[in-house]
Formats: sequence, C-alpha cells, structure tokens
Amino acid sequence: MDNFASVLLAWFAHNGRSFPWRRTRDPYRIWVSEVLLQQTRAEVAIPYYEGFLHAFPTVEALAAADLEEVLRVWEGLGYYARARNLHRAARLVVAQGGFPTTVEGWRQLPGVGPYTAAAVASIAFGEEALALDGNVLRVGARLLGILDPIDEVRTRRRIQEALERLLPPGRAGEFNQALMDLASSACLPKRPRCGVCPVRAWCTAFHNGLQEQLPRKRRRPPKPLRHFVAVVVRDSSGRVLLVRRPLKGIWGGLWALPEVEGRSYRAAKPALEHLLGVRLRKRRALCELHHTFTHFVAAYTVVEAEVEAVPRTGRFVPPGSPGVAVPVPTRKVLSRLARPGAPNPSTGQGPRPVPTRGGGRVHP
Ligand code: SF4
Repeated sequence: MDNFASVLLAWFAHNGRSFPWRRTRDPYRIWVSEVLLQQTRAEVAIPYYEGFLHAFPTVEALAAADLEEVLRVWEGLGYYARARNLHRAARLVVAQGGFPTTVEGWRQLPGVGPYTAAAVASIAFGEEALALDGNVLRVGARLLGILDPIDEVRTRRRIQEALERLLPPGRAGEFNQALMDLASSACLPKRPRCGVCPVRAWCTAFHNGLQEQLPRKRRRPPKPLRHFVAVVVRDSSGRVLLVRRPLKGIWGGLWALPEVEGRSYRAAKPALEHLLGVRLRKRRALCELHHTFTHFVAAYTVVEAEVEAVPRTGRFVPPGSPGVAVPVPTRKVLSRLARPGAPNPSTGQGPRPVPTRGGGRVHP
C-alpha cells in the first residue's frame, strides 16, 4: 500500500468536507468538536459547536462556568456525560497551565478515550497517532478484508496496527480526517459507493465482492428492560416540579421529573413520597415512554399526582420554558403539557394524555 496515503490525501484535498472546526488548529476548538462528534452527526453538531463556543469561547471561560450553565448550553444533544467531562477536563487543563500535546497526556483528561486523544493530538499537535472510531474500523475491515467480528479486541487491534503502518509522516491529522471523510462519503455502512472510492485499488473487500458483507459483528443479546415511575406534580399556576439528579450517574446534574424504579405507581409510591417528603394522591395516568440507554431500555410510567404540602426538594418550572437542562423523557412530557389547550390544574381539569413517539403507548 505504498501510495495509499498519498492517493487518499490527494482525494481529501479536493473532496474533504468543510466544517468550522477544520478551519482552526486551536486545540480547544478541535477538542470541543471531537467531543460533540462522539455521538452526534456533523451536520447536527455544527450549531451546537457554534453555540458552545459562543457561550464558552476559551478553555478558561469553560473552566470558570457553572456546570448548570454548561448543561443548559448542551441541552438537546444528549449524552450529558460529555458536557460534564468537558467541564471537569477544562478545569484540569487550566489548573495544569495548558493543554497536553501528546496522546498519553490527553488520555489523562476525563472523558477522553483513545479515539478523541488521537484525533486531537494528531490534528492540533501533529502527533503520529491513528484515530480509530467505529467508522474508521469499518473502512479498515473492508480494506483488509477482515472476516472476524470487529467488536472483538484482537480484530480491532489488528486493524489499528495495519492502519498505523499507513500513517504518512507528519500528516497524521490529515490522514485521520481523510479516513473519516472516506467513511462518511464513500465507505458507507450500507451500500458502500466503491465506484467513487479513491482507494478501491487497495481494497480487499471490493476485489472479493465482500464490501456489503463486511464488517461482521458478534450477535448481541437484547438490552434488558427496566421500569420506572415518574410523577408530574404541579403548583396552582401549572408549573411542574423537577428535581435535580445527582451529579454522578445517568443525566447527572440535569433537572428531571421525580422518578424511582418500579413497575407500577402503587409499588413506586412510597419511594416517591420519601424522595419528595410529601404524601402523593394520584390524579391520573398520563403516558408511558421508552428511552434507550447504552446498556438498557427504560420504560417510564408517568403519573400526575397532587401533594398537600410543599415538596422538600426540587423546583417548579413553567413546562414551556423550564430554564434548566432536562433529559429527553422529561422534555417530552413538559412539551406536551405546555401546548395550548393543556389544562391548568386550577380549572379542575387534568391534562390530556401525552402522546409518545418511538414505541410509547398512550393511556386512553
Ligand atoms: Fe469501502 Fe468500497 Fe472503498 Fe473498499 S472500495 S474502502 S468497500 S468504499
């Protein structure tokens, strides 16, 4: 594959995608973009990238910000651990007097895995490191014609080592970006566009007609289902009670409907009352929602209830403009409660059932 890198880089020079984070060598901007792109498509990430940098233009500004403000700017993107880790890491970077310049140095920062470390160190500092994510793994498996499942450690290592041998000296950052663009424009997950691929001469899968069969993956067992009960408590002006989640764990630091794990309202009621420090009286079932996490699927039963005293925790927020970062299921419920026609409890009418998408079921 002697000319592989030069052909790929020549193609990239003319066909590389234009993104705002590609017009800078500022490690802070490149780092923010890489964190955004971990779980978000580039087109979706662009406005968040610009909004984040508008709110926190430097690592010092990010380090000085409150976590709550960072989460609010991040709201809607999901995977909030990314924002929490960015914030923690910014404080470390400022405390240690500047950004690391090596892959190993970047790996010491919270939330920075091997891919992000290699991407930032190679693009911002010219480190000779290969940034291997799932997309580049797919390209590598096809180029090398690897039949073993790519979610096995040894397969991943094999691809990593083979692609590392192709890194052009002094141009690892460009090479990494070129592989990313090849993955997103030609070597697509389904129906790769080998006809426009600049490196098909080197591609084993293409030569063997296996490009649509590779890469292979192990069969995964279905995700376990866990049940939760969330409660909507409103004050006399229709505002909804949200509680702040613990900083560690799922949706850490976000404001969510009070919830506990349980299969039914009756089973969950004592724990909900303990959480809020008040007795609850059920008004009606609102809806059921599902949300898929990395390791499980959560099934939420959402119930509206009344309280006879002020809950000992949480804050009441207007459902249309909560003013705090909220998780997706809470946002779905709040959005529906905020729509015109949603009833005010002071009228004595309960809210309409909340319609759900993506597998949710609405109570009659
Ligand atoms: Fe991917 Fe096809 Fe190019 Fe091979 S020839 S790298 S399968 S797009």
